[in-house]
Formats: sequence, structure tokens, C-alpha cells
Amino acid sequence: NYNRAQTQKPDISPFEFRNILAIRMIWLPLSIRKGQMLKYLKIMEKTLVIFKPSAVERGLVGRILARFENKGLIIEGIKMMQLTEEILREHYAHLVDRPFFPSLLRSMTATPVIVLCLKGNDAINVVRMMTGATNGRKAQPGTIRGDFSVSGQENVVHASSSPEDAEVEIARFFRPEEIIEWTPAGIGFIYEPDER
Ligand code: UDP
Ligand code: MG
Repeated sequence: NYNRAQTQKPDISPFEFRNILAIRMIWLPLSIRKGQMLKYLKIMEKTLVIFKPSAVERGLVGRILARFENKGLIIEGIKMMQLTEEILREHYAHLVDRPFFPSLLRSMTATPVIVLCLKGNDAINVVRMMTGATNGRKAQPGTIRGDFSVSGQENVVHASSSPEDAEVEIARFFRPEEIIEWTPAGIGFIYEPDER
């Protein structure tokens, strides 16, 4: 029967099958293109940004957000929330013993804040560079703090400072389902294939 012969799979002995599998396991990693290899290295990073009460109260949210969008960073999470002493003691654990901590607590709880998860190649560094030095008076003009702040405390934004911090901070402020993985249709005009 002609049809039957066409659809029947060829018989492969377990020995031959094992050989084919071994060849494939060696060949596959070699044959993956560079772009796909880089994908497995996960070069896209996520970082946490907070628009502090100093940004919300002064009506700077739109202008600061526009800077991140203009840069090509991808928004994967965004929401408004009221921070509490409990979450701030975690978030600013490195500062709880400093004399200015009560003032920082009052400042960060003065109004609701907006928390964001931004994605991009080297996003943690890129966002920190855009944010500028902690003290707005020392921050370079052209940075967010340099352009919108004259204060060491009322410095309008927070941004994660390392990959380890970013991971912990995103989990601190967002539930997993609030982070939405997506890729803009125009990604090819933001990055070359090997960069994403
Ligand atoms: N801060 C302050 N006084 C200081 C140092 C820091 O009020 O002398 C506040 C300021 O709002 C800063 C935050 O504490 O953004 C966290 O401090 P950090 O040293 O982590 O600076 P950042 O990472 O925000 O640049
Ligand atoms: Mg910090």
C-alpha cells in the first residue's frame, strides 16, 4: 500500500537512536546563532524606580516618566501606593540608624508614591546615571535630580543601585503578576538584535 508506506516511520534501533541524540547534543549548541546565544545570557535587566512624594507633590511625574520613555526603557510595572514605615525600614535598612532616618520616613510617607519596574539593556546602570548623585545640589545638570532637585532628601526619585538590590526591590514593591513581560513592536529600532 503506497500511502501506508509514506506515513510509516522508519525503524530505528535503540543503538542508532542514541547515536543520533549524541550528535545532536554536540551540534545544537554549536549551531545556535550568536544572537540566540546572547538571549540565554539574559542581558535585559529590570530595575525599580520610585517617584517620591517630592515628585508627586510637585507635579513632576509626567516629565520624569517621559525621560525614561524617551530613553527607550520599557515599562513592565507601574502603580501608585502609600508607603508605610514597615516597608521603608526594609527598603532603607542601610539608613535606619542614621540621624536623618525619622525625617526620611516622614518625607517618603508624605503622599502616595509611584513605583515602576523598567526594563532595558544594562537598565540598572542606565537609570542610575539618568538619576544623578543623591544630593540634588551635587547632581549633574541633565540628570533628573540635577534638573529637578536642590535637596539631599527631597530628590524626587529612587533607583535600584545593583542587580541584587533591583531583584529584591522589585519583589518588595510588586506582586509577581503585576510585572508584565512584553516587548514593544519597535524593539528593533531601540536595540540591535545582539543587544536584547
Ligand atoms: N538621604 C537623606 N540624607 C542623607 C542621605 C540620604 O535624606 O544624608 C535620603 C535621600 O532621599 C536618599 C535616600 O535617603 O535618596 C537613600 O539614600 P542612599 O544613600 O541610598 O542614596 P540614593 O541611592 O537614593 O542615591
Ligand atoms: Mg540607595
